Amino acid sequence: MPVPTHRPLVVRGPLAQPDGPTAADGTVLLEEGRVRYAGPATDAPKAPDHALELEVEGTIVPGLIDAHVHLTCDGGPDLLAEVDGRGPAELTAKALANAWRSLARGVVAVRDLGAPCGEAVAVANAVRSGRLRGPEVAAAGRALTAPGGHIPYLGRVEQGVDAMARAATEELAAGAVGIKLIATGGVLTRGVPIGNVAYDEDELAAASRVAREAGAWVAAHVIGLEGTKRAVRAGATTIEHATFVDDEAVDLIRDRGVVTVGTLSALHAIVRHGRAGGVPEESVLKAESVLDVHTDSLRRVADAGLPLATGTDAGTPFNPHGGVATEARLLVQEIGVPPAAAFRAATVDAARCLLRDDLGRLVPGGPGHLVVVDGDPRDDVTALERVRAVVWGGLPIDVGLANLLPLS
Ligand SMILES: [Zn+2]
Repeated sequence: MPVPTHRPLVVRGPLAQPDGPTAADGTVLLEEGRVRYAGPATDAPKAPDHALELEVEGTIVPGLIDAHVHLTCDGGPDLLAEVDGRGPAELTAKALANAWRSLARGVVAVRDLGAPCGEAVAVANAVRSGRLRGPEVAAAGRALTAPGGHIPYLGRVEQGVDAMARAATEELAAGAVGIKLIATGGVLTRGVPIGNVAYDEDELAAASRVAREAGAWVAAHVIGLEGTKRAVRAGATTIEHATFVDDEAVDLIRDRGVVTVGTLSALHAIVRHGRAGGVPEESVLKAESVLDVHTDSLRRVADAGLPLATGTDAGTPFNPHGGVATEARLLVQEIGVPPAAAFRAATVDAARCLLRDDLGRLVPGGPGHLVVVDGDPRDDVTALERVRAVVWGGLPIDVGLANLLPLS
């Protein structure tokens, strides 16, 4: 990734990572936008004379990652109204603003899982080229959904083995780095039952094969149990929501090395704010009906020792961008994972969803993205909600007062 040349940066303070060197007295040296050193201060190489030196109050951690967002949506009460009747120019402007909001909260990379057109790909390109300060964006382009299926307005309607393969090829050619499959019904599309099966297994497999052969990830939206199993068998690399998971599904998830993205934030926001906030009643009822079984399913995944990556589904009702720390806290509060595991979910496990082993950790040669938080997230996950400083690509980011304001 090309980054503008700038001064080397030395950041000193306690260093905490789920996977990588840690130190009570740590030093991170960033040069040319990348990590040159991260570890104990005593072993740090001498910084160049013109380096900028920062002594921080707080804990240095790797930048956070959101494995499931919709950049074209702001988090208003009606998902359809976010995009309906708006052209690509307006939607791209929304996506740029939401990308910035994420970075201000310490989110250094996001995976966009469905947009009406090429908006998220445009933001990805703007960040990559250095024109825009924002998180790295890994975009799926348009989601593939069946006729009469979930969120056609954030995707393209496709059916049949050949059409699915062609659609995946076209999205990748248009700049997507992964494919989103809507394998079941969902909460937010009116008239679509929540857990119905949307595709035959061979349709899902056709699109997955194209993506995997291109080295791309495959994210499958799954609410129902049968759709979940089909998606995993068909080659999904991540399952989104994972509302119904039984023991057989856990075995499949383990055998295929699939990462689960729970999106607790989305469901909890609808249940908490939906009725008073004007979310369509049908969606509120659907969300309420699956809250408990969703919690049980994610516990089953966690209890089996399988990864649960943070993905917020940001852009859905009352779920604004930048809430990775909230998702990590919900993993602790609702699912019962230890704080250290939630920290891992928000960094290395989320990086796995992007097929990136250089994100979510500070290691030599990796991107120079780090965050300073108030507290140690290995003991107290809420530390991630108190972002004090953000460095992206070796550059300190002026986030102003953004991270002092309440998220919603
Ligand atoms: Zn989503």
